[in-house]
Amino acid sequence: MLLKGKTAVITGAASPRGLGKATATLFAEHGARVAILDLDGEAARAAAADLPGEGHIGLACDVTSKPQCEAAAKSAIDGLGQVDILVNNAGITQPLKLMQIEPENYEAVTDVNLRGTLYMSQALIPHMRARNTGSIVNISSVSAQRGGGIFGGPHYSAAKAGILGLTKAMARELAPDGIRSNAICPGFIATDITGGALTDEMMEQILSGIPMGRAGQASDVAGCCLFLASELSAYVTGSEVDVNGGSLI
Ligand code: NAD
Repeated sequence: MLLKGKTAVITGAASPRGLGKATATLFAEHGARVAILDLDGEAARAAAADLPGEGHIGLACDVTSKPQCEAAAKSAIDGLGQVDILVNNAGITQPLKLMQIEPENYEAVTDVNLRGTLYMSQALIPHMRARNTGSIVNISSVSAQRGGGIFGGPHYSAAKAGILGLTKAMARELAPDGIRSNAICPGFIATDITGGALTDEMMEQILSGIPMGRAGQASDVAGCCLFLASELSAYVTGSEVDVNGGSLI
């Protein structure tokens, strides 16, 4: 029970096979009460009801909207009593090449991934500052480190790389307030974002670049989130942790 008595807000966590839901489930198994935020409030409430234990809540929140982030942060604080942990997980990708990126593509992808991470963090930082404690975990991607992959376009790489800079800047600025900020860079993880149109050839190509020879599971990322959210990582801030089966070796 690494999170007994703790509470967490996780964005984009309603997707049943997603990293956010797996993280919420693991946090709940470790004693935390969780607020699941997602675009569809109904889906968020259903996902919260599905978690082990009691006291979880589901809230509608589009992280690209600052007022919605502020309203969801207030509801989470009211509903959970306090918020100790924020996981900025909401994200979208588009498999485009450099010259295919139109302004609306760039805006959509950077808005959800990067702007959303900033807005949700800004919405909870005053509360965390007042309590002099907090752990923020931002979900970046191996695409930020190696300049893309099969699914993410250059705008996705840019947004996820932006998250790494934001994570470190937040870690530096918030350390005196007792708040830690870290990033996770997942590699190829089997979820809805990576499912669907994968041919055998694409799968073979992906797996040939992973020394561990398998796709990651959502639980692999959830375990790393648990470490960064808990006191096990009390002296870890400003770091980026790779969860990629050795893809960058
Ligand atoms: P997913 O599509 O299963 O989940 C993403 C969730 O974000 C969905 O529930 C979606 O409704 C939500 N969302 C989208 N736009 C939103 C918005 N504006 N406001 C609030 N919620 C919004 O994807 P996943 O694979 O679980 O990805 C989770 C995170 O991990 C993303 O940030 C993704 O970029 C990152 N990631 C995934 C992989 C992978 O291989 N699956 C690899 C690296 C990074």
